[in-house]
Parts: sequence; C-alpha cells; structure tokens
Amino acid sequence: MKGTIFEKSRPGRSGFTLPAFDCEYERIPEQLLRGGPPLLPEVAEVDLVRHYTALSRESFGVDCGFYPLGSCTMKYNPKIGEDAAALSGFTDIHPLQPEDSAQGCLEALGTLGGYLCEITGMDAISLQPAAGAHGEFTGLSMIKAYLGATGHEEKKKVLVPDSAHGTNPASAVMAGFTVVSIPSAADGTVDLDALRGALGEDTAALMLTNPNTLGLFEKNIAAVAGMVHEVGGLLYYDGANLNAVMGITRPGDMGFDVMHLNLHKTFATPHGGGGPGSGPVACKSFLAPYLPGPVVDRTTQGFCLRQPKHSVGRVKAFNGNFLVCVRALAYLMTLGAAGVREAAENAVLNANYLLAKLRGTYDAPYGGRCMHEFVLSLEQLKKSTGIGATDIAKGLIDLGMHPPTVHFPLIVREAMMIEPTETESRETLDAAAEAMLRLYETARTDPGALRAAPSGSPVGRPDEAAAARNPVLRG
Ligand SMILES: *Cc1c(COP(=O)(O)O)cnc(C)c1O
Repeated sequence: MKGTIFEKSRPGRSGFTLPAFDCEYERIPEQLLRGGPPLLPEVAEVDLVRHYTALSRESFGVDCGFYPLGSCTMKYNPKIGEDAAALSGFTDIHPLQPEDSAQGCLEALGTLGGYLCEITGMDAISLQPAAGAHGEFTGLSMIKAYLGATGHEEKKKVLVPDSAHGTNPASAVMAGFTVVSIPSAADGTVDLDALRGALGEDTAALMLTNPNTLGLFEKNIAAVAGMVHEVGGLLYYDGANLNAVMGITRPGDMGFDVMHLNLHKTFATPHGGGGPGSGPVACKSFLAPYLPGPVVDRTTQGFCLRQPKHSVGRVKAFNGNFLVCVRALAYLMTLGAAGVREAAENAVLNANYLLAKLRGTYDAPYGGRCMHEFVLSLEQLKKSTGIGATDIAKGLIDLGMHPPTVHFPLIVREAMMIEPTETESRETLDAAAEAMLRLYETARTDPGALRAAPSGSPVGRPDEAAAARNPVLRG
C-alpha cells in the first residue's frame, strides 16, 4: 500500500452524489463564503474502500489474532458492546440536556457505577477520568486534598514498588508528591523490610498493583495495608487490570482506600489504537467528598448529577467517555455475577496453561504458578545465542502472533511478559506455545534468521526510542 488518499485524487472523480437541492434557502452572505472549494481528495468509492482496507491490514489488532500483551490486557471485545454503544438513545443525546430528559443515560452511568463498586469493594465512584494514568492522577489528587483538609501537609511521599507500571510514579509526581521506590523481594512481591524502612510520618500513600506486574498476588497484602495505615498513609490500588481478581477478591476488602479501573482493558472497550478509554476512580466513603464532580446519584425523583462537597474538580468534560461506559455496562450485564468470576478464573487458567507449556524451555524466574500473566527471562538465551526478548518478539510477528510485552517489568532482564487473557481457546494457546518453542529452537540453530525478523510485516525494526521522542506523524 503506497501513498495517501490525496495522492489517489483525480479531479472530478467522486464516490457519491447528492440529490439536487430543491428547497428554498437563504444564500450564505458572500463575505462568509470560502474563496475556493475545500482541498478534499476526489476518489471513486472503490478506490476509497481499497485504500482504507489496505491500511487496516497493515496493523495488527485483537480481531486479527492472538495478542498476549502482558499488563495491557488485549482481550477480545464482544461485539454486543458495539451494538449497545450504537443505540440512538445513547448517541443522539446532548450532554447539556436537562436531567429529567436524560434519565436513561444517567441510569446507565449509575448502574455501571454500582456494579463497579460491588466488584471493587468500594463505596463511591466517578466515571470521569479518560484513562488509567488519568485515574491515578485523579485518585492521588483526592489523597492530596484529603491530607490537606485533615491537616497533614507533611505527608509528601508516595511509595511505589519497583515493579510498578511507569504511570504510577509519573502520576504521583504530577499530583505534587515525591516518589520513593520500594525494591521487590527475591520472590517478586513487596519486600516488607524495605517497606517498613521507607514508611514514616511523611508517607502519604503506597501505590500497589495486585496481582503485580510479575503476575504474582501480594500474599502479604493485609500486613502491608496495616503497616501503611498505621503511619496514617493511604493505599492506592492500580486496578488497570482486574482480569485475575474480578468476582473473586476485592481491593476494598484488601484494605485499599482508592483505586482506578481501566474499562478499556478489562471491561470490553478495544484499546491500543488510540481510541477513547475510561479510567473510573472508586474510593471508600471517607474519600467520596473529594471525587471529581459531578457524580450520578439516585434519589426518589430519579437520577441526578451532584457535585461532591470537597470535589477536586472536574477532570473531563461532562460525564467522561460515556459510550465506553455503555460498553462496560453491556459487558457486565451479559456476563452476570457468575460470568464475571468465570472470566477471571479462565484468565488465570489460560495463563497457567501457557506458562506450563513454556516453563520447561524458557526460564520463568518467578515460579511455576501465576495469576493472569507471567514473566519469562530470556537472559540466559541471550548470553548463549545472542538472541534476546526483542528478537523472539520480532520472530513471533512472522508467525502471525502479536508479540508479548518485552523489557518490562524493568526489574527482569530480557523480560517477556505474557498475558493470554480468558478469551483465547485452547487451540490458540497450543499454537502460541508451539510458535514460542519453535523460535527458541531457531535461536539455537539459526540465530541470524531471528536477528533479521520480521520479514513479512510493513514495518520491521524501527528505532522505538527515537520514534517515541521524535514522532513523525505526517507522511
Ligand atoms: C495500562 C496500565 C496503566 C495505565 O493505563 P492507561 O489507560 O494506559 O493510562 C496503569 N497501570 C497498569 C498496571 C497498566 O497495565
């Protein structure tokens, strides 16, 4: 596929025609008219369809094949969510409509909020934040407001384990805190002694992902929560990925005070392509007055919007990315309570199945069991063959599979982080395991072939650091 749609433009060619205009109309005043016709491409319908179909085939999505991107939960999103989000009752509505004419939409938001509070064990929620990182920033801003209101300005430090997602420390800094990194113990969980050493009067909060990014459940979570609360600190739960725990255990019951969820990972909105997301923030009742407003309330007269008393303010226009919330609601209503739990159980089962198939060949430094994802280290393979995580990842592209997350978490050398998700069949997992094992063999017998991979994709090995720092967004 070469060129832009503009290069395919030919004067006079058109993909559609409008009927002749046969109504009376006022001419637009001359001075408001543009000087010439707009610079739009002129192409036939068939050229238009081929252009965009070809473009869509240049990228890989969850609808194309297996996409085991650890931490990012690229699972299949049921199409019923798209049907729900396309209903005209949800799309043909104005955000400034009076509340009594928007009761259905407010009920959808209120019902979703209630379900998410039930799943997380929290008391109150705002659906406003547009992403996980945005939710983190919002939750930490609430902590900051709460600490300020209760006379604890001295609490300036947020503790973050070294296995955390990079957004955690970034959000803490954005919210005005300083970050203290907590090393992980040899088994990959929080090092309790290191935590004890870092806790003090100046501790504002601990941010924790559980299961953590190594795919391990923090079995000491009750003790951790007790230690943080004892010094007057709060517990923030990074719930970007709830796939392993939803319907089974709840952050609220583990002792967490505030958290975010990623509807665009766990709750049926596709992500990874830059589309809208949603990172609701849920909290215990003592933090509810600080939530961004407005929040949806149920009264005897129906649903209404209310501003929490000490709200940190609005973090997104209107009520957040509303149609992402509709997809999540459709997903939860389709699954039901039992289905939510079953999805989590299957996510854990699938990850363990794949881990069991790979463990004999690849090095799994954090043991034989995992939650919804697991981390391999290709350090030994790299030492003996020169082939590391990046090379195996590139090889997988040629075998029709999206690579897992590589080089993250940062504490594992040559890390490969695999999250198969619950939506994959046994056949897909078997094929993925076979591909991974085949590449391991290739690394030992023909490393040159892997160093040249991928050979069949539109983009091979871009300089990713340079691409991130100096993006060229126009052709
Ligand atoms: C994806 C992710 C985030 C950030 O979510 P965004 O929506 O990308 O901002 C935070 N924490 C964890 C563990 C994640 O996997």
